[in-house]
Amino acid sequence: MAFPKIRFRRPLLLWYRENARNLPWRKTRDPYAILISEFMLQQTRVATVLSYFNEWLRRFPDFATLAHASEASVLHAWEGLGYYARARNLHATAGIVVDRYGGHFPHAIARMRDLPGIGRYTANAIATFAFDQSVPIVEANTARVLTRLFNFRRPTDCTVGREALWKHAVMLVPKRSAGIYNSALTDLGALVCLPRQPKCEICPVKKFCRATNPETLPSKKARPQTRHLIETHALIVKQSKILLVQSVARWRGMWILPPLQTRSTTTRPVHMSIFPFTNHRITLVVYRHRAPPKIFSNQKWFEISALENLAVPSPHRRAMRHFLTARRAARLRRQRS
Ligand code: SF4
Repeated sequence: MAFPKIRFRRPLLLWYRENARNLPWRKTRDPYAILISEFMLQQTRVATVLSYFNEWLRRFPDFATLAHASEASVLHAWEGLGYYARARNLHATAGIVVDRYGGHFPHAIARMRDLPGIGRYTANAIATFAFDQSVPIVEANTARVLTRLFNFRRPTDCTVGREALWKHAVMLVPKRSAGIYNSALTDLGALVCLPRQPKCEICPVKKFCRATNPETLPSKKARPQTRHLIETHALIVKQSKILLVQSVARWRGMWILPPLQTRSTTTRPVHMSIFPFTNHRITLVVYRHRAPPKIFSNQKWFEISALENLAVPSPHRRAMRHFLTARRAARLRRQRS
């Protein structure tokens, strides 16, 4: 049975008029600002992005400013958002937009998709939100709503299922005001069609929904098992300086505590924490060392007072702060006694 797309869109848009989320990137048609929001929102919650978005635009207000900034300052501004490849891709994209398009973001989706880090979803999001092109977006929120509306049971994290879902999305998108429709569908997923407990009783499109067991949708393939890793690092402080190493791997270009080969069985660590990374759960173990265990080719001493201006991944920054705070407290205690 054909889906009544026009009758479906009407209550959705009426609901959106009353319930739209107040998000700063919704108040602009500037493709640069929308691009920034879309990159930040990949793998990151809206609440976290809200605290970065305005500050980023203040610091790098347009493609030219971002293109001419150093990689270190871009990574530093991104610090805390994780997945730093996004920041590197944004930086590279800004450079290409300036060099190739004179600072004007291209309108053609095919050209957008030639830019680093821009796939089908991000290109369509910019096309619809900045240029009001009639294209759909399929991300976590809209995928959830669409799979439930159509009772779509194929796994959405494999190519065949994903392509079929995009076809459903294309079928529903209106010719005009697609940006508003896409925002409405996204907000329905974020506020009503929730992952575990969809609020079907207040859903504006309930009568069009074919889901028989919405909590089980979207279907996913079995996830790869979480792998546990232990990473050991040295904390080497000499008077007012700390030794750091510029990463060439996961946090390429950022400054991290010098890595150690093995975990000590005799010394107690000064810091331990656990953080997730893709399908890994990483235990960070940090030992105090008086001197470097070896010379690292990319090592450098930094003034501790300058740490805040350096690009440092959050788990390592937390370890340094933890140690330095404890050291300050111990000094104060000694002075008082
Ligand atoms: S009726 Fe329930 S499952 Fe269907 S779209 Fe609305 S909230 Fe989602």
